[in-house]
Amino acid sequence: MLISMRQMLDRAKAEKYAVAAPNTFNVETVEAAFQAASELRAPIIIDCAGVHGIELIAELTRFYDRRYPEVPVALNLDHGSTYEEAILAIKAGFTSVMADRSTLPYEENVAQVKEIVQAAHAVGVSVEAELGHVGMGFEYNKTRDGGLTDPDEAVHFVRETNIDCLAVAVGTSHGSYQGEPRIEFDRLAVMRRRIDIPLVLHGGSGTGDENLRRAVETGIQKVNLFTDLSSKGIGFLRAYLGGERPEMDKTLTEDDGPAGEFDGDNRTINLCDAFAAGAKGYKEALKHYMVLFGSANKA
Ligand SMILES: [Zn+2]
Repeated sequence: MLISMRQMLDRAKAEKYAVAAPNTFNVETVEAAFQAASELRAPIIIDCAGVHGIELIAELTRFYDRRYPEVPVALNLDHGSTYEEAILAIKAGFTSVMADRSTLPYEENVAQVKEIVQAAHAVGVSVEAELGHVGMGFEYNKTRDGGLTDPDEAVHFVRETNIDCLAVAVGTSHGSYQGEPRIEFDRLAVMRRRIDIPLVLHGGSGTGDENLRRAVETGIQKVNLFTDLSSKGIGFLRAYLGGERPEMDKTLTEDDGPAGEFDGDNRTINLCDAFAAGAKGYKEALKHYMVLFGSANKA
């Protein structure tokens, strides 16, 4: 069932777990996210970056929402960068939008986020914003320290904007880390104590299970994921292309799929099964994190 992200994360906060928010970009990834959630009886946040097709992902989410009605799902615009993009997402049926103005000066961040909160709240859509800045892993050593969220500023930011959840920069990074991730748990704990709304961690991939477990325990309610899901998907795809596909072959018969020659013990490699192999890896990695975040059996 499609629900507001605020509602979903308020429960996560009360019960001390985090919801996984995988980036999705096509049929396979949206389906894999729903399947992972259904199999683990977990809530899920379908994260969609504008570049990956707001209307497409909205349609796909509605389709799988009907197919898996038992899954609590929120549909969130990831890193929305303009007012127009937020409105397009709301019109398309998103139940949450992120207004990322984290590279702007504080006052401009507040002003632009407030504008979106006003429009979104008018139609029951929740808003995520970011203060401080979670940068890119390839320049981690250069940008990490300067981007950290200031707790005093965060308290004011939440009060001034009336957002529903806040993405904080506590030492994580997007993509693969240059060097070792260093997470500021004390800073996170202070913000958790002083801020009432749910907190979001971007850059979950590569951060390490122990760091993520502790971040959730300290007070994170949503963890954004992409790179690790992608890498595991690529691993499964490589294995399939390399001829190691026992997990695929088990479920295949001569009647499966439009493509491929069946030769008794094996099949010709085909795109249909290749996509399925990639999606299976993505789903396995996602399920690992759902369990780690404590969201299994919270549907
Ligand atoms: Zn992000």
